[in-house]
Amino acid sequence: MRSSRISDFYKLSIDERLKIIKEFSSLTDEEVETLKNSGGLKLEDADRMIENAIGAFSLPVGIAVNFVINGKDYLIPMAIEEPSVVAGASNAARIAGEGGGFHASSTEPIMIAQVQLVGVQDPNRARAELLSRKEEILKIANEQDPLLLSLGGGAKDIEVRVIDTEMSQMIIVHLLVDTRDAMGPNVVNTMAEAVAPKIREIADAGTVYLRIVSNLAVHRLARAWALFPSKTIGGEDVVDGILYAYAFASADPYRCATHNKGIMNGIAAVVQATANDTRAIEAGAHAFASIHGRYAPLTCWEKNADGDLVGSIEVPVAVGIVGGATRHPQAKVNLKILGVKSSRELGEVLAAVGLAQNLAALRALATVGIQRGHMRLHARNIAAMAGAKGELIDKVAEIIVREKKIRVDRAREVLEKLVAKK
Ligand code: NAD
Repeated sequence: MRSSRISDFYKLSIDERLKIIKEFSSLTDEEVETLKNSGGLKLEDADRMIENAIGAFSLPVGIAVNFVINGKDYLIPMAIEEPSVVAGASNAARIAGEGGGFHASSTEPIMIAQVQLVGVQDPNRARAELLSRKEEILKIANEQDPLLLSLGGGAKDIEVRVIDTEMSQMIIVHLLVDTRDAMGPNVVNTMAEAVAPKIREIADAGTVYLRIVSNLAVHRLARAWALFPSKTIGGEDVVDGILYAYAFASADPYRCATHNKGIMNGIAAVVQATANDTRAIEAGAHAFASIHGRYAPLTCWEKNADGDLVGSIEVPVAVGIVGGATRHPQAKVNLKILGVKSSRELGEVLAAVGLAQNLAALRALATVGIQRGHMRLHARNIAAMAGAKGELIDKVAEIIVREKKIRVDRAREVLEKLVAKK
């Protein structure tokens, strides 16, 4: 009987773990080699990064070209398994370039740590006390990370909210921490844990429960806007089509989820390529999109007086260029390719990429439809699924695209014929 209950798995070497996996899943030697072939990440590094490591998983890395942001040229590495994303971003950036490129800005890199205090009878009294004695709280927080402090970061301010919940009213203290070039959750979690007893003392009542970073990083935002000339994107009809698509997303959460997913195609791919936390960025983006009580697009589309299309975006960007997993060797090289000098600059790149990605998707949707761009790569995937290998992949793909029958069953038939001919 195969059992997934393997005690002390974490104590084994990678080879020992692989042996177990091989037996459990009947892997061939070749498949084990595939797992061990970890691209740019050494197996011993993988083993230090997470628990129970057995290998590393690679994704294609593509470079988005044509990006000019605040007058500076960027080549943007994107790690993603989905076809058309890199091409879409590059193409949209080329069009934005004709309108003067992307104009981006950002706030200071301020993260929020939350401390939850429950069971206070008179929470508004406690709130007033906490705010009046914030310097004591900030002092304790800032004793936790002298290095961050020396770099100009650290806890800068607090917010105190009284919220109604299913259990009772609660006091939620936000510690606002400038984490400089780190994403910062470890830093702020440490600070939140350190200040919790002082918060309980000042409130003079209640019990502290959670002390943890918030992924809704509303004080760490990046913004970008760009002008997309009407004549380059295909004229007035295309501009109007994009505006209708935007209005659709604004009015309908079913469409809006896909609108924002398209934006995150670009953002998450750069986040992944720099070994930042894609889940944190996704959670933050979607929560931010709902911040006014209704799920809304992360971008905004308008027509200017000349009839050109103007797009803008505002997103939370909790990313770092130091700390966390950014020591991943490929991420380091990707950061070097990007040439960003601060976490803020990386955030601004993310905003520009998200905007470009959205333009690419909306333009395709408002004109020829999304499938045309996807077709060739999709057809190659279908050909491979049908069993084609090497140059036969392209041959089968070409035929099924021409026939407009991009289906595995047809790909199999075409493949059989081609093989029989040989
Ligand atoms: P970290 O703790 O590895 O590094 C941050 C530290 O680096 C700082 O405390 C500082 O002392 C030092 N440092 C050196 N140079 C710096 C500079 N220029 N700017 C800022 N700090 C500098 O990293 P982190 O950013 O706190 O943690 C990131 C990791 O935490 C990610 O991998 C993420 O996945 C994970 N994480 C996420 C969550 C969440 O999102 N909810 C929660 C916990 C952990």
